[in-house]
Amino acid sequence: MPSEFDIIRQFFTSSAISELRSDVVLGIGDDAAILDIAEGHYLVQSVDTLVSGVHFPIETSPEDIAYKALAVNLSDMAAMGAEPAWFTLAITLPDDNEKWLKAFSESLFSLAKKYNVQLVGGDTSNGPLCISITINGFVPKDKALTRNNAEVTDKIYVSGTIGDAALALASWQGQCLLRDDTASYLNKRLNRPSPQVELGILLREYASSCIDISDGLVADLGHITENSHVGAKINFEDIPLSKEFNLNLTDKSLIIPLVISGGDDYELCFTIPVKKQAEFEAIIEENKLSVSCIGEIESDKGVRCMENNVEIELQATGYKHFVN
Ligand code: ADP
Ligand code: MG
Repeated sequence: MPSEFDIIRQFFTSSAISELRSDVVLGIGDDAAILDIAEGHYLVQSVDTLVSGVHFPIETSPEDIAYKALAVNLSDMAAMGAEPAWFTLAITLPDDNEKWLKAFSESLFSLAKKYNVQLVGGDTSNGPLCISITINGFVPKDKALTRNNAEVTDKIYVSGTIGDAALALASWQGQCLLRDDTASYLNKRLNRPSPQVELGILLREYASSCIDISDGLVADLGHITENSHVGAKINFEDIPLSKEFNLNLTDKSLIIPLVISGGDDYELCFTIPVKKQAEFEAIIEENKLSVSCIGEIESDKGVRCMENNVEIELQATGYKHFVN
């Protein structure tokens, strides 16, 4: 059986990857990494853990696990308006399955390369499968996007489409069957979310607040309204749904909970002050990014979701650990 050092050497160190960025003064191999933060910037840091059987079904492929573990961290950088730069990987492995490790590391490094983020260290141990990635990025001082600056009359936007990942998850859990011609698209939306890093960086100049949708649209928008001491009204008709989502579902009573409370889309939800809206929409079109205006910030606390001007009763509001 190889030692943890063999595993690190074989699967998590390669010259192509360890020389990705010139701001890594010292990467994997010492007691800690040394990293050079560009002048005039703040370091932005976040950690996310994926536990087998909790955050992904145990039969998920190593490629998808690696992809998602890094993608959800990149999404946190996007939500802060930060440019991701470096990450560390704390991995707990039940065994030293070489085929699994090879598939995992190839998928991890291919996404890392795409976003120009370098693996600079980590920790390897034996136990139930668990992957924890800490990501670091930077943002020009005072340009970070937070959850606490939304103001009354600001417009509420989301990127991409909402509910796809929740629909795929519902099918994994045996609650529904996906149409054959939509299954691969929807499963990809669940297992391989696209972190909105480019949009996040662009939003630095326009958004008053931002969050990524991991727990559900209403739950995550609720974090913005709570932290900003405001409320929100969104219109169900304006929430963008994919054609693959629509092909599977026509029953409104099923659609609404998936769209409103389903998580895992990793799209951005953000607010734009009215005076910046026209310029923002123009820049979005120029950059061919996909965003939709779904509502407005109000002074009445809480999040209201309307359908044809009638308020929808919201029950479940996102996944919570330690709560039944
Ligand atoms: P230490 O005992 O000093 O904590 P380790 O033996 O845990 O060091 O790790 C040795 C080196 O390998 C360190 O630079 C560490 O960051 C790196 N490392 C360990 N596990 C991983 C991993 N899964 N991915 C990337 N680097 C790792
Ligand atoms: Mg260690």
